[in-house]
Amino acid sequence: MTYRWADATWADLDAAREPLVALLPVGAVEAHGPHLPLATDNLISEAMALEGARLLADRGVSARVLPVLTYTAAPFARGFRGTVSVSPATVSALVVDVGRALAAQGVAVLAIANAHFDPANLESLYSAVETLRQESEIKVVFPDLTRRPWALRLSEEFQSGACHAGQYEGSMGMAVAPELVDEAERVSLPAAPVPLPEAIQAGKQSFEAVGGSQAYFGDPAAASAQEGQETIALLGEILAEAVASAL
Ligand SMILES: [Zn+2]
Repeated sequence: MTYRWADATWADLDAAREPLVALLPVGAVEAHGPHLPLATDNLISEAMALEGARLLADRGVSARVLPVLTYTAAPFARGFRGTVSVSPATVSALVVDVGRALAAQGVAVLAIANAHFDPANLESLYSAVETLRQESEIKVVFPDLTRRPWALRLSEEFQSGACHAGQYEGSMGMAVAPELVDEAERVSLPAAPVPLPEAIQAGKQSFEAVGGSQAYFGDPAAASAQEGQETIALLGEILAEAVASAL
C-alpha cells in the first residue's frame, strides 16, 4: 500500500484506522551546492515522513504523508539562481490552513517533518504550530532536528552546524535520488566546515556572507548512500517517536 496521502482515494482515508495521523514534509526550492538538486530538502523531508509512516504502521498507527510543502522561506540562498524564497508569513498561513482543513475532518495529529533549517523557515513553522495549538483540536507535533533532544542523535557534521549540502544532506541525496547527484562535482569539492548557527547569531544573512560562494557547507566528498540510508531510518524513528508520544 502507499503511505502517500494524495495517492489514496477519499474512501481509503475514510476507512483508515483511527486515530489518523497526517505527516507534512517541509522542504524548499533552494540552492544546495553545485552537486545537489534544488529539491534536496523536499526529497529528504519526504523520505523522513515515508519512513516515519512505515514505522508508525508497525506500531499499529495509521499515518499518511501529505504532499511536500516545497515553497518555503529560504532567504540565505536567495542570491543563487534557482532558489525560490517566499515570505515566512505565507508559509505560516499555508501550514495553519492545512492544519485547519485536517482538523475539520477529524485528523488527530499533524506532524511536521522538516528538512529545511533556514531560520526564517523555522520561525514560520513555530508560528504556525503556535496558532494551531491555540485554536484547534488537532495535535501538532514538530520535532525540530536543530534542537535537543533530537539534534544530539544526528551526525557529527550536523551537530557542528555545517549542515547544508555537505556530508549529512549529500548522503541522503545519494540514498534517495542518486540520479540527481552530480558525482564528479561532489567528489571534487573541498570541505567547508562553517558552523552556520554561529554565523547566523553573528548577524550574517546569506550563504555568501559566511563564505559559501557555492551554496554548500560541510564535506560533500565524504557523503555516502549508506550513511544516507542510516540517517533516513533515524529521522523516521524520531518522527515516529514524536508522534507516538503525542497520541
Ligand atoms: Zn538542505
